[in-house]
Amino acid sequence: MDTPVKNLDNRIIPAVPMKNLETLWLQVGGTLCNLECSHCFISCGPKNDTIPMMSFAQVKERLEESKQLGVKDYYITGGEVFINPEIFEILELILRYGPLDVLTNGTQFTEEKAGRLRKIQDSSEHPLQFRVSMESFEEAANDAIRGKSAYRKAAVGIEHLAAVGFSPILTITRTWEEENDAEMELKFVEFLCSKGVSKPRIKILPGFLLGKLADNERSYNDEEYVTEKCFENFDITQLQCATSRMATGDGVYVCPILVDNPKARMGNNIEETLQPFPLSHSACYTCRVTGMTCKSSS
Ligand code: SF4
Ligand code: SF4
Repeated sequence: MDTPVKNLDNRIIPAVPMKNLETLWLQVGGTLCNLECSHCFISCGPKNDTIPMMSFAQVKERLEESKQLGVKDYYITGGEVFINPEIFEILELILRYGPLDVLTNGTQFTEEKAGRLRKIQDSSEHPLQFRVSMESFEEAANDAIRGKSAYRKAAVGIEHLAAVGFSPILTITRTWEEENDAEMELKFVEFLCSKGVSKPRIKILPGFLLGKLADNERSYNDEEYVTEKCFENFDITQLQCATSRMATGDGVYVCPILVDNPKARMGNNIEETLQPFPLSHSACYTCRVTGMTCKSSS
């Protein structure tokens, strides 16, 4: 393996190279969210303003930089992006630069907002796609994790998006055994069809033992970390941190997963972050063993 390494606590830690910056994430919602899910790996909530929302001006600055660096596509996340008061202007702006995936909990969509989103999409040459996060196709199971009324509001939100021609991807954190994925996917597809979604798609994500999930279940143990051996038969540049970065209202981080970890803050702008990153965090172990990527297409 020809990637740089770093010695940490007597372990040789592999470092992921920056292969080619293709994707820019923007944490438009900061760590603020109207929900307080019990498994949120960055512990977002109505009172968590650790990382502020991004302003229109901040987003524009990062977009201009990303254009010079050849970024091909964009993702926005939070917290919840639709509680950012400038969200519609930000969506229009990003779509001038490239395709956009919007990660949302789906609870903020009204008929009027869905109509505005349709107009924004119709006036852009780039595709606008939504990913709505839920936990279950059953109200009680969903709300046990995401809070009271979260299911009802997200289900209504999906219906509004579908009514104006969007097909949101449903994103779920796996809370079942991996071998049951096919059965669970079928049930989630049925749920999306019942809400009028014409092209139902699902993305199942592993749980990262960080934030609230670490508080409420467990954190990583001493055996869960990556070593050079982990990459003997695995191309390290398949990790999303070889091709993407995460811009926030407080600097640029290596990835969306480690956004509340100060060691993952790589610089004040994107250019400063185009260097190898040592995979010293246990969350990197989850990425390696699950082949996880935050992008919609995988
Ligand atoms: S998991 Fe998503 S919806 Fe839930 S608190 Fe975190 S950011 Fe908000
Ligand atoms: S958590 Fe995953 S995406 Fe983030 S630096 Fe580690 S391996 Fe890369």
